[in-house]
Formats: sequence, structure tokens, C-alpha cells
Amino acid sequence: MPLRTLLILIALAVVFLAVKRLFPPARPPKKKQLKHGNMVQCAHCGIYLPEPEAITREGRHYCSQDHVDAARGQPPE
Ligand SMILES: [Zn+2]
Repeated sequence: MPLRTLLILIALAVVFLAVKRLFPPARPPKKKQLKHGNMVQCAHCGIYLPEPEAITREGRHYCSQDHVDAARGQPPE
């Protein structure tokens, strides 16, 4: 095998490895963690919000302290 052909093969291998390193295999995009079933509805205004962010009073969920007070008939000052 001529030396020149060997050098070309080596050069091609180097280029191939460089390109392979520059372009890693595409990974699938991360799936957003949508927790279905954990949405609750504010008992006062009806808005939906994630359960961890809701305020729970007497078995009912509320979107804010204002609506907890409003549902109790205590207007916020
Ligand atoms: Zn509300």
C-alpha cells in the first residue's frame, strides 16, 4: 500500500472522528413533567392550579389566601 494512500486513510479517519465528536448523537428533548391529575380548582373563583400551590382549607382548595377569606365571608383588608 502506497504511503500516500495510507496517509489519506488516516486523514479521513481523523476527520471522521472529529466530525463525530463535534456532532454527538441527537438526544430526544426532555419531556416536560406534566403532572396530570394534580390540578385542583379554586372553590371560590374556579381557576385551576397545581395542587402543591393551592391552599387547602376544610377539604377545599383555593388559589390564594384572599379567596380562602372570601369563601369564609371575610373580606380581605
Ligand atoms: Zn381563587
